Amino acid sequence: MTTVEHKVETFDSLNPATDEVVGTYPVHTEKDVADAVARARNASAWWQSLGFAGRAERLQRWKGIVTRRGAQLAEVIHQETGKPHSDAMIEVVLAVDHTDWVAKNARKVLGPKRRPAGLLMANQAASVEYQPLGVIGVIGPWNYPLFTPMGSIVYALAAGNAVIFKPSEYTPGVGKWLVDSFAEAVPEHPVFQLVTGFGATGAALCRAGVDKIGFTGSAATGRKIMAACAETLTPVLIEAGGKDALLVDEDADIEAAADAAVWGGMSNAGQTCVGVERVYVHEKVYDSFVAATVEKAKSVRAGYDADAKIGPITMPAQLDIIRKHIADAIARGGKALVGGVDAVGDRFVQPTVLVDVPEDSVAVRDETFGPTLTIAKVKDMDEALVKANDSRYGLGSTVFAKRRGMELARRLRSGMTAVNSIISFAGIPSLPFGGVGDSGFGRIHGADGLKEFTRAKAIARQRFRPPINLTTFARTEKADAAVAKLITLLHGKRK
Ligand code: NAD
Repeated sequence: MTTVEHKVETFDSLNPATDEVVGTYPVHTEKDVADAVARARNASAWWQSLGFAGRAERLQRWKGIVTRRGAQLAEVIHQETGKPHSDAMIEVVLAVDHTDWVAKNARKVLGPKRRPAGLLMANQAASVEYQPLGVIGVIGPWNYPLFTPMGSIVYALAAGNAVIFKPSEYTPGVGKWLVDSFAEAVPEHPVFQLVTGFGATGAALCRAGVDKIGFTGSAATGRKIMAACAETLTPVLIEAGGKDALLVDEDADIEAAADAAVWGGMSNAGQTCVGVERVYVHEKVYDSFVAATVEKAKSVRAGYDADAKIGPITMPAQLDIIRKHIADAIARGGKALVGGVDAVGDRFVQPTVLVDVPEDSVAVRDETFGPTLTIAKVKDMDEALVKANDSRYGLGSTVFAKRRGMELARRLRSGMTAVNSIISFAGIPSLPFGGVGDSGFGRIHGADGLKEFTRAKAIARQRFRPPINLTTFARTEKADAAVAKLITLLHGKRK
């Protein structure tokens, strides 16, 4: 980090379950951010010069450190978010798996590839390769403070970029742990740096002349980020919120669907961008699905003890939103079969299952980000599709069905769909991850996620002089006539 002469303003990272201070971090200023970008520029040239193999070797080295010290990293996540240690460990496992994938696949996806030159340009050797953009700013959220930003960080690094990470003000310790451990694996240059602070530090990163911003957070902040980036024409990737639906068809495995709904809705205390928030169930299996879901939801308890399956609400301001969604749903005729308004405490929210909630209420339309589910009865899956797709969000979705699983998945307006399992797409490194509408645009993960942090570079190399040269003022009438004849032969046929 830069040494600054003036008194450095700091902020505390608190454990949301206990309010205990777990770390103190600088509020980085515009100048600090600009200095970090300048350092990153030099580092990125060196990092690029290593090539895919050199970078892959170092990323694998880092992966080894993260894996061996996974429990320590999970402890930082546990303390800063309050989520159970075992859930934090799943984040570590997924992040490690993605790091391994990018190290092994970056060259294959981004390296030079021959392309057919076509008949008109048959004298050319055509190729494309994907070159790094330079310096990427990654702005992350707190709900999955490791797994989510790593979906941008390791992909940007593997593609050859330097990265500056601005973690959420609720989870700066996770960012610091990552940057420090990376520096052990790659001590030569500051290829991966940390800036900490609040929204203003993030905004400074947007304006600092980086080559792209990879943002994960709320749609509201996404809009501000795009506006700031517009000033310098800095491109942005937006991974924002969701209001994911789960569809249960009449031939679904009801026990499995209920289990998925409860885990998808309640795990991480509902603070999951691709968490299940709405469920649409075929009328023929509605009663049995609701009974199974209620039974399972009752066995989940929020707390900070070792037996609690879910932790606190990490961001205190969210408690009010969750309370308002539940209260509004009940005031408008909904029923809480589990939990209710009283389930919302000072730090913890107990699982809440709502039925008969009007489709235009906030609990169905806005991101609740708490351990709540709304369940609605539908006469068939076409009605379920219309209702599920009637949302300004479109991040993930889930289908439980035997016969029509794939068809329903294709027709859901969302970036990802899991069929007969839950959130599985996020754990498959080769699959792209991202949303539509207010859930954002651009993709992390997979080949698309690697390309997101690159620019396509096209090269046409002349192999021999063309029989007819079109790109010269010495072009003759004879050449024009020959080309006209050729194009008619090739494309002029009447069907
Ligand atoms: P947030 O939008 O409040 O903050 C995200 C980050 O943006 C933080 O680091 C914050 O400091 C920074 N920020 C705030 N104002 C800024 C500004 N004006 N300019 C630049 N940066 C600014 O989001 P959050 O509460 O941390 O995260 C929760 C949200 O993230 C939820 O909506 C959730 O669905 C979403 N999310 C999406 C994904 C995904 O992959 N699509 C993954 C995880 C979380």
